[in-house]
Amino acid sequence: MTTDRPAQRIGIFSDIHGNLQALQTVFHVLEEEECVDCYYCCGDIVGYGGNPNECVDLIRAKNCPTVAGNHDHAALGLTDTSYFNEIAKAAIQWTGDVLTPDNAAYLKSLPMTIVEGEFMIVHSSPKDPEAWNYILTLPDARVNFEHFDTQTCFVGHSHQPFIIEYLGGKLSCLVQPFVPVVEGRRYLINVGSVGQPRDGNPDASYAIYDRTQQRIEIKRVSYDVAATQEAIRSEGLPSQLADRLNHGW
Ligand code: ZN
Repeated sequence: MTTDRPAQRIGIFSDIHGNLQALQTVFHVLEEEECVDCYYCCGDIVGYGGNPNECVDLIRAKNCPTVAGNHDHAALGLTDTSYFNEIAKAAIQWTGDVLTPDNAAYLKSLPMTIVEGEFMIVHSSPKDPEAWNYILTLPDARVNFEHFDTQTCFVGHSHQPFIIEYLGGKLSCLVQPFVPVVEGRRYLINVGSVGQPRDGNPDASYAIYDRTQQRIEIKRVSYDVAATQEAIRSEGLPSQLADRLNHGW
Protein backbone atom coordinates (compact mmCIF):
# COMPACT_ATOMS: atom_id res chain seq x y z
CA MET A 1 0.00 0.00 0.00
CA THR A 2 1.63 3.25 -1.08
CA THR A 3 1.15 6.43 0.90
CA ASP A 4 3.44 8.83 -0.95
CA ARG A 5 0.87 9.91 -3.55
CA PRO A 6 -2.89 10.38 -3.57
CA ALA A 7 -4.73 7.08 -3.81
CA GLN A 8 -5.74 6.31 -7.39
CA ARG A 9 -7.46 2.98 -6.91
CA ILE A 10 -9.68 2.66 -3.87
CA GLY A 11 -11.55 -0.35 -2.49
CA ILE A 12 -14.79 0.40 -0.65
CA PHE A 13 -16.89 -2.18 1.17
CA SER A 14 -19.56 -2.45 3.88
CA ASP A 15 -21.63 -4.67 6.17
CA ILE A 16 -19.20 -7.39 7.14
CA HIS A 17 -21.36 -8.53 10.07
CA GLY A 18 -18.79 -10.74 11.74
CA ASN A 19 -18.18 -12.84 8.60
CA LEU A 20 -14.42 -13.36 8.81
CA GLN A 21 -14.07 -15.62 5.77
CA ALA A 22 -15.81 -13.09 3.51
CA LEU A 23 -13.74 -10.18 4.90
CA GLN A 24 -10.46 -12.06 4.51
CA THR A 25 -11.39 -12.92 0.93
CA VAL A 26 -12.30 -9.32 0.07
CA PHE A 27 -9.04 -7.98 1.53
CA HIS A 28 -7.10 -10.65 -0.37
CA VAL A 29 -8.76 -9.73 -3.66
CA LEU A 30 -8.36 -5.98 -3.06
CA GLU A 31 -4.65 -6.36 -2.37
CA GLU A 32 -3.59 -9.19 -4.70
CA GLU A 33 -5.88 -8.77 -7.70
CA GLU A 34 -7.38 -5.30 -7.59
CA CYS A 35 -4.08 -3.69 -6.46
CA VAL A 36 -5.84 -0.92 -4.55
CA ASP A 37 -3.91 1.93 -2.89
CA CYS A 38 -6.28 2.09 0.09
CA TYR A 39 -9.66 1.01 1.33
CA TYR A 40 -12.66 2.35 3.25
CA CYS A 41 -15.44 0.60 5.14
CA CYS A 42 -19.04 1.87 5.34
CA GLY A 43 -19.72 0.25 8.72
CA ASP A 44 -21.51 -2.70 10.34
CA ILE A 45 -18.35 -4.68 11.05
CA VAL A 46 -20.26 -6.76 13.60
CA GLY A 47 -23.73 -8.26 14.20
CA TYR A 48 -25.15 -11.58 12.88
CA GLY A 49 -21.84 -13.43 12.33
CA GLY A 50 -19.74 -15.58 14.64
CA ASN A 51 -16.42 -13.70 14.43
CA PRO A 52 -17.02 -10.09 15.46
CA ASN A 53 -13.71 -9.61 17.30
CA GLU A 54 -11.69 -11.18 14.51
CA CYS A 55 -13.34 -8.88 11.95
CA VAL A 56 -12.70 -5.76 14.05
CA ASP A 57 -9.11 -6.90 14.62
CA LEU A 58 -8.57 -7.31 10.87
CA ILE A 59 -10.11 -3.93 9.97
CA ARG A 60 -7.89 -2.29 12.60
CA ALA A 61 -4.78 -4.17 11.47
CA LYS A 62 -5.38 -2.96 7.91
CA ASN A 63 -5.77 0.67 9.05
CA CYS A 64 -9.02 0.77 7.12
CA PRO A 65 -10.91 4.04 7.75
CA THR A 66 -14.42 3.07 8.82
CA VAL A 67 -17.68 4.78 9.73
CA ALA A 68 -20.11 3.50 12.37
CA GLY A 69 -23.02 1.27 11.39
CA ASN A 70 -26.24 0.65 13.31
CA HIS A 71 -25.16 -2.85 14.36
CA ASP A 72 -21.81 -1.51 15.60
CA HIS A 73 -23.72 0.95 17.78
CA ALA A 74 -26.38 -1.60 18.75
CA ALA A 75 -23.76 -4.03 20.07
CA LEU A 76 -22.61 -1.25 22.39
CA GLY A 77 -26.11 -0.27 23.49
CA LEU A 78 -25.73 3.09 21.75
CA THR A 79 -28.84 2.88 19.57
CA ASP A 80 -32.42 1.63 19.85
CA THR A 81 -32.86 -2.01 18.76
CA SER A 82 -36.62 -2.28 19.26
CA TYR A 83 -37.08 -2.51 15.48
CA PHE A 84 -34.63 -5.45 15.18
CA ASN A 85 -36.27 -8.83 14.59
CA GLU A 86 -35.75 -11.54 17.21
CA ILE A 87 -32.88 -13.16 15.34
CA ALA A 88 -31.03 -9.87 14.96
CA LYS A 89 -31.64 -9.08 18.62
CA ALA A 90 -30.24 -12.44 19.74
CA ALA A 91 -27.16 -11.96 17.57
CA ILE A 92 -26.51 -8.40 18.72
CA GLN A 93 -26.88 -9.38 22.37
CA TRP A 94 -24.31 -12.15 21.89
CA THR A 95 -22.03 -9.79 19.96
CA GLY A 96 -22.13 -7.18 22.71
CA ASP A 97 -21.30 -9.85 25.28
CA VAL A 98 -18.23 -11.20 23.45
CA LEU A 99 -16.68 -7.96 22.16
CA THR A 100 -13.38 -7.23 23.90
CA PRO A 101 -13.25 -3.92 25.78
CA ASP A 102 -10.62 -2.70 23.34
CA ASN A 103 -12.73 -3.53 20.29
CA ALA A 104 -15.82 -2.02 21.90
CA ALA A 105 -13.87 1.20 22.49
CA TYR A 106 -12.75 1.16 18.85
CA LEU A 107 -16.33 0.75 17.57
CA LYS A 108 -17.47 3.56 19.86
CA SER A 109 -14.78 5.83 18.42
CA LEU A 110 -15.91 5.45 14.80
CA PRO A 111 -17.13 8.63 13.05
CA MET A 112 -20.56 8.79 11.41
CA THR A 113 -19.13 10.16 8.15
CA ILE A 114 -15.79 10.45 6.37
CA VAL A 115 -15.17 12.98 3.60
CA GLU A 116 -12.11 12.31 1.46
CA GLY A 117 -11.72 14.81 -1.35
CA GLU A 118 -14.48 14.28 -3.87
CA PHE A 119 -16.21 11.42 -2.06
CA MET A 120 -18.01 10.74 1.20
CA ILE A 121 -18.56 7.56 3.20
CA VAL A 122 -21.61 6.99 5.43
CA HIS A 123 -23.39 3.82 6.58
CA SER A 124 -27.07 4.60 6.07
CA SER A 125 -27.82 7.98 4.53
CA PRO A 126 -26.10 11.36 4.24
CA LYS A 127 -29.33 13.15 5.20
CA ASP A 128 -29.42 11.88 8.76
CA PRO A 129 -26.72 9.27 9.43
CA GLU A 130 -27.83 8.46 12.99
CA ALA A 131 -31.46 7.85 12.03
CA TRP A 132 -30.29 4.74 10.12
CA ASN A 133 -32.81 5.30 7.32
CA TYR A 134 -32.57 3.12 4.22
CA ILE A 135 -32.18 4.45 0.70
CA LEU A 136 -34.41 2.08 -1.24
CA THR A 137 -36.16 4.21 -3.88
CA LEU A 138 -35.30 7.02 -6.29
CA PRO A 139 -37.30 9.52 -4.17
CA ASP A 140 -35.18 8.44 -1.15
CA ALA A 141 -32.07 9.03 -3.22
CA ARG A 142 -33.26 12.43 -4.52
CA VAL A 143 -33.66 13.80 -0.98
CA ASN A 144 -30.24 12.50 -0.03
CA PHE A 145 -28.43 14.14 -2.97
CA GLU A 146 -29.30 17.45 -1.25
CA HIS A 147 -27.40 16.39 1.86
CA PHE A 148 -23.86 15.84 0.59
CA ASP A 149 -21.52 18.24 -1.17
CA THR A 150 -19.08 15.77 -2.69
CA GLN A 151 -19.40 14.37 -6.21
CA THR A 152 -19.93 10.84 -4.89
CA CYS A 153 -21.33 9.30 -1.71
CA PHE A 154 -20.78 5.63 -0.86
CA VAL A 155 -23.27 3.90 1.48
CA GLY A 156 -24.16 0.40 2.70
CA HIS A 157 -26.91 -0.62 5.16
CA SER A 158 -29.51 -2.26 2.86
CA HIS A 159 -27.07 -4.99 1.71
CA GLN A 160 -28.34 -4.38 -1.84
CA PRO A 161 -25.86 -2.73 -4.21
CA PHE A 162 -26.94 0.06 -6.57
CA ILE A 163 -25.52 2.92 -8.62
CA ILE A 164 -27.61 6.10 -8.93
CA GLU A 165 -26.48 8.94 -11.17
CA TYR A 166 -27.66 12.55 -10.80
CA LEU A 167 -27.53 14.92 -13.75
CA GLY A 168 -29.33 18.25 -13.91
CA GLY A 169 -32.04 17.20 -11.48
CA LYS A 170 -32.62 13.87 -13.23
CA LEU A 171 -31.88 10.58 -11.44
CA SER A 172 -30.99 7.32 -13.15
CA CYS A 173 -30.58 3.95 -11.47
CA LEU A 174 -27.93 2.26 -13.56
CA VAL A 175 -28.25 -1.47 -13.98
CA GLN A 176 -24.75 -2.09 -15.23
CA PRO A 177 -22.12 -3.00 -12.59
CA PHE A 178 -19.94 0.03 -13.37
CA VAL A 179 -20.29 3.73 -14.09
CA PRO A 180 -17.89 6.18 -15.74
CA VAL A 181 -17.36 9.13 -13.39
CA VAL A 182 -18.14 12.25 -15.44
CA GLU A 183 -17.54 15.85 -14.42
CA GLY A 184 -20.81 17.64 -13.70
CA ARG A 185 -22.56 14.43 -12.68
CA ARG A 186 -22.96 13.10 -9.14
CA TYR A 187 -23.27 9.58 -7.80
CA LEU A 188 -24.85 7.73 -4.90
CA ILE A 189 -23.42 4.22 -4.67
CA ASN A 190 -24.48 1.37 -2.40
CA VAL A 191 -21.48 -0.97 -2.30
CA GLY A 192 -23.54 -3.97 -1.14
CA SER A 193 -22.54 -6.28 1.72
CA VAL A 194 -19.39 -8.30 2.32
CA GLY A 195 -20.82 -10.65 4.91
CA GLN A 196 -24.57 -10.94 4.34
CA PRO A 197 -25.70 -10.03 0.79
CA ARG A 198 -29.45 -9.62 0.37
CA ASP A 199 -29.81 -9.30 -3.39
CA GLY A 200 -30.06 -12.98 -4.25
CA ASN A 201 -26.32 -13.30 -4.94
CA PRO A 202 -24.44 -14.99 -2.06
CA ASP A 203 -21.03 -13.66 -3.15
CA ALA A 204 -19.35 -10.89 -1.13
CA SER A 205 -19.81 -7.43 -2.65
CA TYR A 206 -17.31 -4.55 -2.87
CA ALA A 207 -16.67 -1.45 -4.99
CA ILE A 208 -13.59 -0.21 -6.80
CA TYR A 209 -13.24 3.53 -7.40
CA ASP A 210 -10.51 4.06 -9.99
CA ARG A 211 -9.55 7.74 -10.11
CA THR A 212 -7.18 7.23 -13.04
CA GLN A 213 -9.82 5.64 -15.25
CA GLN A 214 -12.59 7.74 -13.66
CA ARG A 215 -14.78 4.73 -13.12
CA ILE A 216 -16.63 3.07 -10.24
CA GLU A 217 -17.39 -0.64 -10.37
CA ILE A 218 -19.29 -2.99 -8.07
CA LYS A 219 -17.82 -6.48 -8.03
CA ARG A 220 -18.50 -9.83 -6.37
CA VAL A 221 -16.27 -12.60 -5.07
CA SER A 222 -17.13 -16.03 -3.70
CA TYR A 223 -15.77 -17.12 -0.33
CA ASP A 224 -15.91 -20.15 1.99
CA VAL A 225 -19.57 -19.92 3.01
CA ALA A 226 -19.46 -23.30 4.79
CA ALA A 227 -16.71 -22.12 7.15
CA THR A 228 -18.72 -18.99 8.02
CA GLN A 229 -21.81 -21.09 8.64
CA GLU A 230 -19.82 -23.37 10.95
CA ALA A 231 -18.59 -20.34 12.93
CA ILE A 232 -22.20 -19.14 13.36
CA ARG A 233 -23.51 -22.55 14.39
CA SER A 234 -20.62 -23.32 16.76
CA GLU A 235 -21.40 -20.15 18.72
CA GLY A 236 -25.03 -21.21 19.14
CA LEU A 237 -26.35 -18.28 17.10
CA PRO A 238 -29.73 -18.72 15.33
CA SER A 239 -29.33 -21.24 12.48
CA GLN A 240 -31.22 -18.97 10.06
CA LEU A 241 -28.21 -16.65 10.12
CA ALA A 242 -26.10 -19.46 8.69
CA ASP A 243 -28.71 -20.81 6.27
CA ARG A 244 -29.43 -17.46 4.58
CA LEU A 245 -25.81 -17.12 3.44
CA ASN A 246 -26.36 -19.91 0.88
CA HIS A 247 -28.90 -17.80 -0.95
CA GLY A 248 -27.85 -14.22 -0.45
CA TRP A 249 -31.08 -13.21 1.25
ZN1 ZN B 1 -25.79 -4.15 7.87
